[in-house]
Formats: sequence, structure tokens, C-alpha cells
Amino acid sequence: MAGEPRNDCLFCKIVAGEIPATIVRETETTVAFRDINPQAPTHVLVIPKAHYENAADLAAGAPDIAADVLRETQTVADEEKLDSYRLVFNTGSGAGQTVWHAHAHVLGGRGLQWPPG
Ligand code: C5P
Repeated sequence: MAGEPRNDCLFCKIVAGEIPATIVRETETTVAFRDINPQAPTHVLVIPKAHYENAADLAAGAPDIAADVLRETQTVADEEKLDSYRLVFNTGSGAGQTVWHAHAHVLGGRGLQWPPG
């Protein structure tokens, strides 16, 4: 069912504490943790605790939680003292999505090029 944890999902396992992660923030509905393969001095992932495959599914199925995720990205940026940062929601394998549980990348702490690769 939409939102229910999946036992084949890496990020559901992080939410459940079954896989270690460097958690920087947690709320009732979200978890934020450092990316294991950082692409910038700050690279934090903000995820909903509920399982949705991507940002669009999350926004359609649980808009309040999608808003929580967005609010948390700003809080992470504030706590990391980022005055500029980039939010990325890779959606689909062609865009580089490798984990099928919605996540916002918060990237900052260095100059970021545009357009992205
Ligand atoms: O957007 P994409 O699906 O590629 O992002 C998944 C991210 O999850 C990658 O940046 C990867 O480094 C990160 N990851 C992680 N901890 C894991 C597995 C993947 O931070 N245990």
C-alpha cells in the first residue's frame, strides 16, 4: 500500500534503523542524513519516513509530508549555514535515480555549475 515500508528498500531500512546512516535531523515524518558518497562539502538527503518511489508520487500521495520534506531541506541548509544551496530530486533512472524512495539532495558548501551534468 502507498506509504507502507518496503523490506527491499534501502531507505526504509535506514528509517527503521536497520542500516546505519549519519542522521542529522529527524521529525515525526522525515529523516535527514549525510549522503554516503558526498558530491559537495554539504550533501544531505532528506527523505519521508513513508515509502513513495519519487517526489511526484510523494506529492500526489502525501502532500503534507512532501511539504515537511521541503521545510526540512531549508532547516538543514540553515543548520549547515548554507547561504546558497541546490535541491535535487532525481526522478527516473535516466536522471540518475538509483534509490526508489523519494529523497531530496541538499547540496552546498561550494560553487555549483549550471546546467548540471
Ligand atoms: O538520486 P539518487 O537515487 O541517485 O540518490 C541516491 C543517493 O543515496 C546517492 O547519492 C547515494 O550516494 C546515497 N546513498 C546513501 N546511503 C546509502 C546508499 C545510497 O547515502 N546507504
